Amino acid sequence: MASPFVHASAAVPSRTVGQSLLQIVPSTACLHCDICCRFPEADSFLRPFFTADEIRSAVRAGVASEMFPDAEGTQIELVPNPSGEGCLCPAFDPATSQCRMYDVRPLDCRLYPFALMWDASHTEVLLGWDTKCPYMRDLSSAPIEQAAEGTARWIEEDATLEILARYPRLIGRFQDDVMVLRPLTRVTERLRQGRLPVRMQPLTIADRRRLESALAESSGVQPLPLAAASFVFHYIWRHRLTYAWADLHGHLCLFADSPDGIFMVLPPLGTGPLVEPVAAAFRVMRERNGASSVTRIDNVPEASVAELRAGGYVVTAREPDYLYAAADLVELAGDAYRSPRAACNRFVREHGGVCEPYDLRDRPACLSLFREWSEQKERAGKDDWAKVLLEDAAGAHEAALSAYDELGLTGAVVRVQGRIRAYTMGVWLNQSVFCVLLEVADRDMVGAGAFIFREFCRQARDKGACWINTMDDSGLPSLARAKHWYRPARLLANYTVTEPRR
Ligand code: SF4
Repeated sequence: MASPFVHASAAVPSRTVGQSLLQIVPSTACLHCDICCRFPEADSFLRPFFTADEIRSAVRAGVASEMFPDAEGTQIELVPNPSGEGCLCPAFDPATSQCRMYDVRPLDCRLYPFALMWDASHTEVLLGWDTKCPYMRDLSSAPIEQAAEGTARWIEEDATLEILARYPRLIGRFQDDVMVLRPLTRVTERLRQGRLPVRMQPLTIADRRRLESALAESSGVQPLPLAAASFVFHYIWRHRLTYAWADLHGHLCLFADSPDGIFMVLPPLGTGPLVEPVAAAFRVMRERNGASSVTRIDNVPEASVAELRAGGYVVTAREPDYLYAAADLVELAGDAYRSPRAACNRFVREHGGVCEPYDLRDRPACLSLFREWSEQKERAGKDDWAKVLLEDAAGAHEAALSAYDELGLTGAVVRVQGRIRAYTMGVWLNQSVFCVLLEVADRDMVGAGAFIFREFCRQARDKGACWINTMDDSGLPSLARAKHWYRPARLLANYTVTEPRR
């Protein structure tokens, strides 16, 4: 899973497990490589996992204990790279390009450039090699096969199997840039022992109807759904999270694989009580995540709270969704709407833009506007959290603009003298609730955002929307202010559910 620095000439490790694991990459190659132990982002899923014993050894070797959020086993926290982009493992010394705790580096790092991972359907454990390693890319298949055979034998020894069974997060998620060498049957069998037989299926565009039907029949989700109660809300974030679903007790359960483990992005969907599917889902997450605090169910609506509290679960409120009466947003009448109305009027007076349906041919101009808008926001200054959200948003906008039709999105653009100066996309959550998912407007053109929002809501109202959901405010004060500017009729409660501490 990790991307570690390894060199064959270092001292033989003192721990029992790992003693006979030979390194395939020579130290001369590692010392001239700048791939390992460096990571593109702080929460990279490739950062190495440490077992409880390995954490104790690392701390004795001088790594700060704060780098390990869970002393019982966790991925290490990364530190910013002082002389470049991205992050470093805190045990990595950039001055010497060496691991400061090489002799006691974790199993995850010992294995590299071999990697342990699940197949795409999470049914079988595989041994592969990471094509990010330049040395391996230049090797012929014979030495790789030979080294893989020894590594596979070592992994399937009883002592290693027990470690993997205790720390299943040592087995990474499927990566298509890892070249598969062989299945590890004994590891798969050991991990299946005593576990719930669950078939996880990767979420694809073909699952849209399945998920939408399950949402429609979930009484807890309707009649005023959260924005998360839609396929597209999740699907456009596939560049950040890997989604998979499983059928548990007749309910569709949607999971996301994050760097810290899997969690549910919605409560189990379907008809009937939640007790059994929720219990099964928590068991699946515990089996995957170990003790990781990532185990949770997000986007639980108010209607399911009493049942889950009665089941002994811990229910915590998170940022609510903003819900507006569609007619209010179209009419912008009275004193309460004086400011948005003035912004719209000014835009019409000064620019006279027209609002039209989005067409795939508008995609390049919209993406170019997104870049312009990001730069405008950058210049206006943002806090760190807002910056992260903006970077993440680029992939979501790209996905929405490219596949809006397959995703069931409705879109609009505003043109001023033929140039697109604003665009927006939304989705129907049910027949009377329309959700505005994304909106970008030229910040140098006063009122462009207010104008496209009003016109988009008008289109939705004319097609039967009574309510407009604009999602939550992500905890950003500036976004909260903008959402309150339009006088929400209701704040839709949204909860996270966890298991009680054992
Ligand atoms: S523990 Fe050592 S080998 Fe592993 S990622 Fe950190 S610096 Fe690299």
